[in-house]
Amino acid sequence: RGNMTVGETAKLLHKDASEVIKKLMFLGTMATINQELDLDAIQLLATEFGVEVEVKIVVEEDRFENFEETDEEENLMERPPVVTIMGHVDHGKTTLLDAIRETNVTGGEAGGITQHIGAYQVEAKGKKITFLDTPGHEAFTSMRARGASVTDITILVVAADDGVMPQTIEAINHAKAANVPIIVAINKMDKEGADPDRIKQSLTEYELVPEEWGGDTIFVPVSAKQRQGLDELLETILLVAEVNEYKANPNKRARGTVVEAELDKGRGAVARVLIQHGTLKVGDAFVAGVYFGRVRTMVNDKGRRLKEAGPSTPIEITGLTEVPLAGDPFIVFEDERKARDIAEKRTVALRQSEITANTRVTLDDLFQHI
Ligand code: GDP
Ligand code: MG
Repeated sequence: RGNMTVGETAKLLHKDASEVIKKLMFLGTMATINQELDLDAIQLLATEFGVEVEVKIVVEEDRFENFEETDEEENLMERPPVVTIMGHVDHGKTTLLDAIRETNVTGGEAGGITQHIGAYQVEAKGKKITFLDTPGHEAFTSMRARGASVTDITILVVAADDGVMPQTIEAINHAKAANVPIIVAINKMDKEGADPDRIKQSLTEYELVPEEWGGDTIFVPVSAKQRQGLDELLETILLVAEVNEYKANPNKRARGTVVEAELDKGRGAVARVLIQHGTLKVGDAFVAGVYFGRVRTMVNDKGRRLKEAGPSTPIEITGLTEVPLAGDPFIVFEDERKARDIAEKRTVALRQSEITANTRVTLDDLFQHI
């Protein structure tokens, strides 16, 4: 991870450390000069100071060819939006995720046994929405640091009886740094003392201004516990998705990102993967991070066996040789020989980089002034 101290960041931005500390305080973080800032915080500071910087995230994957191909516009098709829920601890992220999942089962899949596979899909107004169910800023940031961008939309959960808290602000900063639109869910509306206007007022300080006040942020009052406002929230997600036109080409070899992975006693290495491009099929040879494999079985979040999975579909697969890391890119190749070859090259490259790399990324690596 490319962390820098407040002092180093100040130097980089040609500011006094005290100015940076003041700005951080304004952004909701109390910091000392020796405190380490993560990439998102540094990037946000640069924006706040109006300093134009190009951030180069240096991760192992950068040293690997990523086999990315651009698609012709005519081959792109609409895909479900991928949504992450963030917010302060105890504001109701888990309750909201569970409520959405339990009340909206994908059409035709009712009765399936819910599987925890790191993400799930629901259906609203005949359209699918994918939720990553690993809320938490860690997951979000570490995946991004690994070069993975999986989220299209962030739901920022704020408890109506509590207000804007440090992790609320952190979540806003993460979403802004990743350039992901934010929908605010004002939760716990059922509670006495719920004051949505106070939440809206405090969020204006972070450029989240409600539409009715002339801004462009959508606020949806909900009660995760009493399952109120959930349909409105889903409809809002679809609205944002419609505006942003999330698309992918389903007619090519699959690519995606590992969301979670573990060693299962009976099944061996298991990976939960979000497919982002193309269609994954049983039998496909792939590389996940530095390991290769061949899809042996594939199940969805309802525990249903699938033969294929298209863009934005979360699945759990077996058939890996080893356990990859969350955030690892998942890429299908034409055959197992090719996948094995790529995996071996990556393993060698990774070992070499581990020997030569110093863990701290230098300033020059991190930033290149334009
Ligand atoms: P997280 O830390 O953000 O995942 O929060 P949780 O989902 O674990 O919720 C924290 C607490 O708030 C739990 O005791 C929930 O039952 C409660 N809670 C969550 N949503 C609501 C709500 O809409 N209304 C009320 N009254 N309580 C809620
Ligand atoms: Mg939770």
